[in-house]
Amino acid sequence: MKNRRKFLQTAGLSTLALSLPWSESLAYLSSSKEEKVLRVALMGLGSYASRVAEAMKDCRRAKLVGVISGTPSKIAQWQQKYGLEAKNCYSYDTVHLLKENKDIDAVYVITPNALHKPHALAVATAGKHVICEKPMAINADEGREIVAACTAAGVQLLVGYRMHFEANTLEIVKKQRAGEFGKTLFFQGLSGFIIGNPSQWRLNRALSGGGAMMDIGIYSINGARYMLGEEPVWVTAQEEKTDPVKFGEGIDETITFQLGFPSGAIASCLSTYSLNHLDKFFLSGSKGFAEMQPSTGYGPIKAWTHAGPLDKPHVTHQTTQMDEMASILLDGKTPFLPVNGEEGVKDLQIIDAIYEAVRTGKKIMLPG
Ligand code: NDP
Repeated sequence: MKNRRKFLQTAGLSTLALSLPWSESLAYLSSSKEEKVLRVALMGLGSYASRVAEAMKDCRRAKLVGVISGTPSKIAQWQQKYGLEAKNCYSYDTVHLLKENKDIDAVYVITPNALHKPHALAVATAGKHVICEKPMAINADEGREIVAACTAAGVQLLVGYRMHFEANTLEIVKKQRAGEFGKTLFFQGLSGFIIGNPSQWRLNRALSGGGAMMDIGIYSINGARYMLGEEPVWVTAQEEKTDPVKFGEGIDETITFQLGFPSGAIASCLSTYSLNHLDKFFLSGSKGFAEMQPSTGYGPIKAWTHAGPLDKPHVTHQTTQMDEMASILLDGKTPFLPVNGEEGVKDLQIIDAIYEAVRTGKKIMLPG
């Protein structure tokens, strides 16, 4: 399938139409007419950008055409590896020149968390759609600034919530919305891993904006919201720190938190940089349950309910995500679970409230 797709992309249309059976060539001609391809530049060529770039090789609607990087040697390597034209490669200082580039539609910001805001603003000002990694910013006010800047620039803003397109996740969410679990009144989210190298940006508040909560705890926050289908109205939270040297001021190591929802549902969650094998969602309802473990890792996602296992095949998350994002940006498709800037701000509001609850020891009310 992959080879065939590559062949279709590179072959000339007329040769192709002659060489395929009549029905197949007709299908190809009509789909090629309808389906535009989203031309994407990745910003920040680190480990996650590398994963996205590899996944994009299998995309049908999205294509990697450029990069923005602060490391010239990486630009050279990526040009060669992905066949990128020099005119589509930029440094952070030349992002404004994207305005003149008609061959790039969107920039995917995959830099450290605290740089998302300045980088997203620069991309929006250059008139390109912004896809921004999670957390969209380091607090809700910064998130709102990004939303406002994209609106003012007339560009769209999406957040890299890859789980919003994952088939088993969507299946459970749809069952919950259809009432198959009855009244869902409890969610448990466990999100964590043991973080390595103490000198990485994730443990430097100026670049990370926080600790495990910003990086991995956000999956339980986001998961609680999509699994229950409600917005929380209150937050309580407690912090534990076993290593104050590795996890300095403003870097949370472990936080347990609880979210209360208008229906009376409660979410009980754990976010940590100090425990492995923590990637689990559990949803309890009056008529049944859903469980996922792993629930947010790169996959395959394993999910089951009171009625048995779910069996949607694994597709590399970032491949599906980028194809779906192309449909959103190019065709105006509305995804089942939102991935827009407002969605990013909702998680950031909850993170702000969790940090406030830890600081004050109080129950923090949210607008809902
Ligand atoms: P990396 O450290 O691997 O890469 C970050 C890249 O950002 C660097 O390689 C560098 O690229 C660029 N950069 C620009 N300024 C700086 C700076 N001051 N310090 C360090 N790097 C800088 O991080 P990840 O790829 O793991 O994470 C990047 C973002 O992606 C984060 O926001 C993270 O939360 C998110 N992420 C999302 C995941 C998901 O599943 N959705 C999974 C993993 C990460 P260059 O040299 O090209 O400028």
